[in-house]
Amino acid sequence: MRRDPYEVLGVPRDAADGDVKKAFRRLARELHPDVNSHDPEAEEKFKEAAEAYEILSDAERRATYDRYGFDGLDSRGFASQAHGFGSFADIFDAFFGGDPFGAFGGRGTGRVQGGDVGVEVSITLEQAARGERLQVSYDLVDACERCGGSRADPGSDVHTCTNCHGAGRVRAVSRTAFGQLVREQICEICGGEGRVPSQPCTACGGRGRKAVRKTLDVDVPAGIADEQRIRLSGRGHAGERGGPPGDLYVLVGVEDDERFVRDGNDLVSVVDVPAPAAALGTTVTVHTLDGDQEVDVPAGTQPGTVVTLRGKGMPAIGRRGRGDQQVVLNVVIPRNLDARQRELLTELYESLGEANLREPADESIVGKLRRAFR
Ligand SMILES: [Zn+2]
Ligand SMILES: [Zn+2]
Repeated sequence: MRRDPYEVLGVPRDAADGDVKKAFRRLARELHPDVNSHDPEAEEKFKEAAEAYEILSDAERRATYDRYGFDGLDSRGFASQAHGFGSFADIFDAFFGGDPFGAFGGRGTGRVQGGDVGVEVSITLEQAARGERLQVSYDLVDACERCGGSRADPGSDVHTCTNCHGAGRVRAVSRTAFGQLVREQICEICGGEGRVPSQPCTACGGRGRKAVRKTLDVDVPAGIADEQRIRLSGRGHAGERGGPPGDLYVLVGVEDDERFVRDGNDLVSVVDVPAPAAALGTTVTVHTLDGDQEVDVPAGTQPGTVVTLRGKGMPAIGRRGRGDQQVVLNVVIPRNLDARQRELLTELYESLGEANLREPADESIVGKLRRAFR
């Protein structure tokens, strides 16, 4: 089954050329073998994305596809370049060899920026409220320590590549239905360096890069929300051929706290007030992020009344002050009355006048809801 190229790249049918390019670039980054060595389908996915890009980046092919679908392309002899190459590296070089799309941010000479790394951490609401320094461990491809990324074993010399004569790239010519396609690709002997170590580094096998586990202190700012990402620039995979490293993204999960519901920078909590106590007036204990606090409940408090504790909510990232805590007073009606209690309550009920049995108009339930969700 061939998937719709718009769907593959995740762009709308009227996407501009720039957006098509951007979408492909993003996918290519994700599917880069250094980033995605754990996904056995990465190569197939990349081929699919490359084919989609070939179709949508060419005005004529795109128009053909829009009108006639894949059948139209097939009948006009379109054959994807993505499927004509052997290895994943070849495909990558074909599309990014000269870095024609700036896919990895490198400039001109085959510099390739390292891929981004993502790591997830989980913190409590209290940690999110006060901010926290966390130790984060993650795997990445880093420059080899032994050779410093030079690929040569220390002490051994490096000579000019005989395959590309030091250029780092070679021209490859292929025939397609649209004619001859000449493209430059990275020299596979020297990997684009133009120079070859006479003795490859023994630690990295001459790749210049190694998988390592890193541990880093990450400052989580006070007030961070669930699923927010912290970007640490340059902490991702090492680049290739002098390219800059990628970035590290720390995805912060904030655990649910059974005491509070978070609403932006506000916290909402609920406290039970027995119905007789609500009628008589009482004091209740409310949990806050700063510890327990006594809150007065005036006589005649109605169900759903919200008490606002100013400044007891979450801090806002990068700003002073905190949100509020909204305490919903949940008036609890007695459920299991014995005979004597029923008698007492009946007597009380019959003694109550109209003013105790009706809500004043300005205390309507709608009015309360408005306040609760304000
Ligand atoms: Zn090495
Ligand atoms: Zn070479």
